[in-house]
Amino acid sequence: PPDTAALGRSTWTFLHTTAAYYPTRAPPEAQTNMRRLLESLSLLYPCVPCATDFQEDMRANPPDLSGRAGLSRWLCERHNEVNDKLGKERFDCSWDSLNRRWKDGPED
Ligand code: FAD
Repeated sequence: PPDTAALGRSTWTFLHTTAAYYPTRAPPEAQTNMRRLLESLSLLYPCVPCATDFQEDMRANPPDLSGRAGLSRWLCERHNEVNDKLGKERFDCSWDSLNRRWKDGPED
């Protein structure tokens, strides 16, 4: 089976970084592409319980595809749902803290 911790860290890095560089105001084509990416991820993610919960969470909380700020916050909230589930600390989803971690000064 896959190493769900390593897979998760890499996937979150990809997702949060992609959100940090998503257009400030996303044109329809970018929104369509992002919707497909998130839907595909939720169907193909190679940790079945993770994928099932992520699908459910996305159904209850549809992605904010309007632009960088909305998408980054939405993703942060989804990640916090998983943090809650795993008993991990919640992350501060303010714009400043997201930029510090995922755009201006990545830790790793
Ligand atoms: P991670 O949670 O991987 O976080 C990496 C870094 O992101 C942190 O060091 C921190 O700097 C930053 N960060 C933390 N929270 C946030 C946030 N809310 N917003 C922005 N940045 C943040 N694992 C399971 O065991 N069960 C599951 O059901 C499960 N579901 C998952 C679903 C998805 C869609 C993904 C991508 C991963 C899932 N995982 C799941 C993996 C899990 O979320 C972690 O990636 C894994 O446990 C490793 O955790 P970590 O402590 O190294 O940090």
